[in-house]
Amino acid sequence: MLLSTKARVRKMRYYSVKMRASKEGKHISGGERIVEREALKEVINSLIERPRDFDFLNIKVKLVQKLNYIDRSLKIENCSFPDTHQANAFAIEIIHKYTGIDKVKIENFINLIHVGASDRGDVMRGAMLVDTNGNRLERDRNRGVRTTGVDFEDREKVRSKLIKKGFTDRTLDALAIATKNLNYPDILGEYCISDDPDYQYGYVAVKGSYIRIYPLKDKGNDKGGRIYFVKKEVDLDRLYNYLEEEEFLIRELGEVL
Ligand code: AMP
Repeated sequence: MLLSTKARVRKMRYYSVKMRASKEGKHISGGERIVEREALKEVINSLIERPRDFDFLNIKVKLVQKLNYIDRSLKIENCSFPDTHQANAFAIEIIHKYTGIDKVKIENFINLIHVGASDRGDVMRGAMLVDTNGNRLERDRNRGVRTTGVDFEDREKVRSKLIKKGFTDRTLDALAIATKNLNYPDILGEYCISDDPDYQYGYVAVKGSYIRIYPLKDKGNDKGGRIYFVKKEVDLDRLYNYLEEEEFLIRELGEVL
């Protein structure tokens, strides 16, 4: 009896840690974690080491007021194709199957990501939002919507499992983002390519699955981005609040096929 009371008094407190770094006004690196008090020092040190060269770095640490849990990440599947054209045709097929959006419309939005989807033709900071009628919904086309506030409960355990299977830290971060996104009932799918010109992997996430696809973009292309496909009746205020304000820990890694 006494023990359980003590345990309740010593309820764990989690902190969100966000790092962003830039050089000459251009964003170059970012990262975020949700950890207990004892891990703060180590986590801050590892985030500071992420960017190779910067002239501005900001670290924000904030007590998490309400922590939510997701039991399992999306399961991971892998698909390879001879070229980006076939890889994207496959991605379009899956998104169409799960959203019902016209394939030509999906292709047009994907093409926009490959050439820079902001109003100025640059990479957006966050994701584009497209509803099942094929309309763009994000409030600011340069910023997009950002998924934040998600981490793995035991990040090292999940990380080492993924690395052993040939994945990278990028997969770890992207899997966390996609898992939080697809946990929201009104988000039906996600398309993602990196803005790193050397990184040709991308993914499509739909209910239950994170489908890693190679090669989803041409080598040398420095444009990238994300598209979240949402139900047409989505409540935008709630969606933004869920993606940008609510904090989640993912307990376990899902199946890796
Ligand atoms: P990355 O996976 O970090 O290479 O990011 C690829 C692209 O996805 C970026 O160029 C942004 O357009 C977008 N993006 C990056 N991080 C986020 C995020 N947390 N939420 C939504 N979109 C993002």
